Amino acid sequence: MWENLEIGLEKVSQEQLKEKPAQDSLGFGLHFTDHMFLMKWDRQSGWHDAKISPYHKFKLDPAAMVFHYGQAIFEGLKAYKGKDGQIYLFRPEDNIERMNASALRMCMPRLPVAKVLKALKALVYLDRDWIPTAEGATLYIRPTMIAVEPALGVRAAGQYYFYIIMCPVGAYYPEGFSPTKIYVTDKYVRAVIGGVGDVKTGGNYAASIMAAEEAHQAGYTQVLWLDACKRKFVEEVGTSNIFFMINDELVTPSLDGSILPGITRDSVIQLARKWGVKVLERPIAIDEVVAASIDGSLTEAFSTGTAAVISPVGELCYQDTKYVINRGRTGEFSQRIFNELQAIQSGQQEDPFKWITRVG
Ligand SMILES: *Cc1c(COP(=O)(O)O)cnc(C)c1O
Repeated sequence: MWENLEIGLEKVSQEQLKEKPAQDSLGFGLHFTDHMFLMKWDRQSGWHDAKISPYHKFKLDPAAMVFHYGQAIFEGLKAYKGKDGQIYLFRPEDNIERMNASALRMCMPRLPVAKVLKALKALVYLDRDWIPTAEGATLYIRPTMIAVEPALGVRAAGQYYFYIIMCPVGAYYPEGFSPTKIYVTDKYVRAVIGGVGDVKTGGNYAASIMAAEEAHQAGYTQVLWLDACKRKFVEEVGTSNIFFMINDELVTPSLDGSILPGITRDSVIQLARKWGVKVLERPIAIDEVVAASIDGSLTEAFSTGTAAVISPVGELCYQDTKYVINRGRTGEFSQRIFNELQAIQSGQQEDPFKWITRVG
């Protein structure tokens, strides 16, 4: 039935077109474009009613299972408008495939990858005037799947919505790249091996808010999570993956089941290897990071994710001691990889890995 899934189109009327927000005050995730994509799934029909339509509200039953048992998964990717006026998506198939990995773990239906990509491109093209053109500004895309069957009882739902919404976002670093201060928590944990830390499901983020709030209150931007069992090994920073440059080797925690396999993480690894930098994916004890900071072999740290691409870390606080990295400044490698990725994403640089897909 997937093969026959036609994508319907209902465009907004001229009067319904929303007023676009000012480019210099976009913020993140606040303004949504004119259209959205929605398709529905149930056990009898599989995916059906695939349609691009004006951005609208859902009417859901209060018993919809997502509200109670949290079967909800999402993705995040970006569309870029290049200097040449072309529109680019960065590794969109990887996002759809990762969503399918999330769906599998959460007992939700698999997405038809080619169809979703087609819908995604059509939606981006239709709302192309929403893609900001200022340096570093992009269109953020949020594919989401939720359980909508109205029924109580813990089991896999029999009805789902898959939808895509989009919002223009400003440059993450309007005043230039600035390193963050990170609080290493050994009080809270994010995920355990065997749990759902390696998939993008809503509950992971709900569970992380308290740690983030306490870190903010203490003057830190984000939390660095340690492994849940020993509270000894580094996992992630907030909702980003983490890298350290130690003795000129780039090290990042291996994907052992509790870490989200970031697409930016993978891109950094591939680019660094192409440049001849040694990259190691292995367990990293926080004690090793602290020791490397003290003896000077830790020269850079940065986190990676779609929203910020690269976020340099200027300070870590662990067990009441502060460790300043690279005198609190952005490292050379962090800057170089940020520039390169941004240039590839916006079509300004050769794309040796075939990461970008043109829209239109
Ligand atoms: C989304 C996410 C990342 C980063 O993944 P990207 O594909 O690089 O955006 C890292 N960690 C967590 C927990 C995430 O949710």
